Amino acid sequence: MNGAERLVIVRYGEVGLKRGNRALFEKLLKRRLADALRGERHGGIERPHGRILVRAAADPWAAAERAARVFGVTSTSPALSAPREPQAIEAAASFALEEALARRGCPDGSGLTMKVESTRADKSFPLGSMELSRRVADAVLSRFRGFGVRMKEPDLTVGIEVRTDEALVFAERLRGPGGLPVGSLGRAVALLSGGIDSPVAAWLAMKRGLLVELLHFHAPPFVGEASREKALDLARALSRYGGRLRLWIAPFAAVQTAIRDGAPDPYRTLLYRRAMNRVAARLADSSNARALVTGESLGQVASQTLENLACIEDAAGRMVLRPLLTYDKEETIALARRIGTFEISSRPHPDCCTLFTPARPKIRGRLEELRDIEETLALEPLLESCWEGRELAHLAHGELLPPAPPGIAADRPGSGGER
Ligand code: ATP
Ligand code: MG
Repeated sequence: MNGAERLVIVRYGEVGLKRGNRALFEKLLKRRLADALRGERHGGIERPHGRILVRAAADPWAAAERAARVFGVTSTSPALSAPREPQAIEAAASFALEEALARRGCPDGSGLTMKVESTRADKSFPLGSMELSRRVADAVLSRFRGFGVRMKEPDLTVGIEVRTDEALVFAERLRGPGGLPVGSLGRAVALLSGGIDSPVAAWLAMKRGLLVELLHFHAPPFVGEASREKALDLARALSRYGGRLRLWIAPFAAVQTAIRDGAPDPYRTLLYRRAMNRVAARLADSSNARALVTGESLGQVASQTLENLACIEDAAGRMVLRPLLTYDKEETIALARRIGTFEISSRPHPDCCTLFTPARPKIRGRLEELRDIEETLALEPLLESCWEGRELAHLAHGELLPPAPPGIAADRPGSGGER
């Protein structure tokens, strides 16, 4: 539509509910949006009451799609700003609808239902909300003849928001992930394997406002480059939601070999996982993270009984969050598909945890036994070299970023990842 300003309306839910922290949360959300919109041309992000507006968006659909991936956002709409005159609003509504229909591949609205919904923040507007809605509905129905009208759950709702200095008009809502802005609840270390579960667990932790430091244990030469690529690709997929992310890759083969050679078979998995948690705890200390996040789910595999989870957690020395604890595998898979990690996780490359898996793993581990075995294994120096050998990759918006220039300390919190 000639001359009309294009913009994006961003709606958020829970963020607004946190009373004392509200302003802080909104500010963080705005920052996450700015970050997600990097590369999109727009005229600035405003934060009028209860809403965020991305003004003068060069490509409002692309911007709305990107914004709809930001945690804390419940929905977004590509919109137009029209003068506060009924005719201008009608024209904007037609235009918004035309775009929405084209995108749905149904240019005249055939077989679809719609309604018009108006709100007035400014009550001085000459028409009442109902009257305005009716007028606009008449106008668009005379143009898109295929439409049916339906008040309850129509396919499309044309929205009109009359503000003091403009009317915002839109016809499509893109669903956001909800949750809370990443970083609003602090930091955690998320253990990322090449499996289906852990990326979903990390995503859920991010969704609840945690900034995650991803940690992957890699075991060359037992597993190849492809396993490492898989972890990187998973991290890339997650970074589409989380602004910037850091993935730490730590070499685990020596630790695994020592456990394989020195410990009774049934205890291997528990010992691997305890060793992983020890290294993860170090990363948590160095990056100011209060908790670990894992993809463990109760009863999913032999290592995931309450007894075993307790044995594994003991080595973490801090809170371990398990967002998938109560998920059935099907539920996890459905979510993995939705967030775009399932395909990557399904690549047939082994993960180091599947190496040397015992034929009969211990179902109910006992802590004292594990500690006694660990005494004999002398793992400390190996864990130390695992930690020292860690590498760092930075990711943002689905891309791997070039390595930080030398001289910039990589593992200080905030030195690449953000708050
Ligand atoms: P996943 O599908 O996430 O691998 P899983 O059901 O296969 O989970 P396990 O292999 O026992 O279960 O792993 C339990 C958790 O331990 C994982 O969800 C992950 O958080 C962590 N983990 C396992 N292997 C690794 C690894 N190589 N690097 C980092 N974390 C790992
Ligand atoms: Mg696994």
